[in-house]
Amino acid sequence: MANPPITTVMSDNPATHTIRIGVSSCLVGQEVRFDGGHKRNAFMLSNLSPYFEFVPYCPEVAIGMGVPRPPMRLVQRQDGVHAVGTRDPALDNTEALRDYAFEVSGQLQAVSGYILKKDSPSCGMERVRVYDSNNVPARTGSGIYAETLMQCHPDLPFEEEGRLMDPVLRENFIERVFIYYRWQQLLRDGLTPSALVDFHSRHKFNVLAHDEPAYRRLGRLVADAGKEQLESLAGRYIEILMQALKKPATRKQHTNVLMHVMGYLKASLDGDDKHELLEVLEKYRLGQVPLIVPITLIKHHLRKYPQPYIDQQYYMNPYPEELMLRNSL
Ligand code: SF4
Repeated sequence: MANPPITTVMSDNPATHTIRIGVSSCLVGQEVRFDGGHKRNAFMLSNLSPYFEFVPYCPEVAIGMGVPRPPMRLVQRQDGVHAVGTRDPALDNTEALRDYAFEVSGQLQAVSGYILKKDSPSCGMERVRVYDSNNVPARTGSGIYAETLMQCHPDLPFEEEGRLMDPVLRENFIERVFIYYRWQQLLRDGLTPSALVDFHSRHKFNVLAHDEPAYRRLGRLVADAGKEQLESLAGRYIEILMQALKKPATRKQHTNVLMHVMGYLKASLDGDDKHELLEVLEKYRLGQVPLIVPITLIKHHLRKYPQPYIDQQYYMNPYPEELMLRNSL
């Protein structure tokens, strides 16, 4: 039974309804697991669903394994890792899963991120058990389907549902999804040197918070927009950008960015306001208050003393505030 290419399970927010995230079907409650059950993820369905459309894929059902079905696991063989039946190792689904991943790969221009089911020999992103010839497991593998998708789409944000419970990884994934979505929009609207420069200039502080050397590299790259072949330059740009964003931003890095932002307000703030802001920044750096606290105070000052350059930075508003992701950072 093949999955439909795009099946949205919710779409009730017109402002963001075009942001689609691929998901393992069992996470959105579809009863497609080997035992006929599901792994409905409450966080995804209650917190994320108002902002995204989920596009479910179940590779094992799609390759005709049926529900229920005999369980599978990954085993290490001489020619690589295979997905085989736990009870009947002669049942090898490796090639079928890989072929299906190639098929889905062709549909992933329509999504801006992908949430995978952890530990699955098909969907697991990392640390999936791989059994050696002595039947000893090591958490060194990736699901066959997931691994192939990730190889085909190295820039697309992927995450596992279990890791989304970590506030830092969760925020990191959602930030990447929104940035990748804006990149897809830029490509849809037409890539031009000035559009690339504008995209970069609005995401500068996002990159700076994750990876300062990449921030400098990207700046140099964009300075060459118009001088060399744009498609290949853009390809290198998005590759460096998405790799940089994968590194979670630390409190020190966020503090550094916020000090930059404060620099723009320096001439407008009086001594008391500066002192208060520095105090709040220090409390954030020390882990005494979450990121939302200095951000809220800075936004308050920006409303009083607008700074067009800062206002257009996506760092200040990377995703809908209602997601409240910075409340736990
Ligand atoms: S983990 Fe993947 S293969 Fe397994 S039931 Fe969920 S969607 Fe299907």
